[in-house]
Amino acid sequence: MEKGAIIKHDIKKSPRTGSWRYMKPEVDKDKCIGCATCVPFCPEASITVNSEQKSVNNKKKSKGVAEIDYEFCKGCGVCAQVCPVKAILMKKN
Ligand code: SF4
Ligand code: SF4
Repeated sequence: MEKGAIIKHDIKKSPRTGSWRYMKPEVDKDKCIGCATCVPFCPEASITVNSEQKSVNNKKKSKGVAEIDYEFCKGCGVCAQVCPVKAILMKKN
């Protein structure tokens, strides 16, 4: 049986993207359901899901929303492909 290993990605050791990125992902906060499907697919580990307060019928509700760290995002578009509700749109940088 082949042995495997989980490599933990430390974003602080990753190279910063700089100005060469051609496409940029943008999260539609209203569409995002905070499912975190996109998080493990990002090769740069630059997506986090943070909770955001939302007011619905005068009641405050907290909702998870994906946030992208553009310092490290390379614009590959994988996150937009895997999002089940198409909440990420790729735009020209
Ligand atoms: S475009 Fe690629 S690198 Fe940038 S957040 Fe999405 S999956 Fe990660
Ligand atoms: S952007 Fe899409 S895949 Fe990522 S947390 Fe939001 S709904 Fe889920």
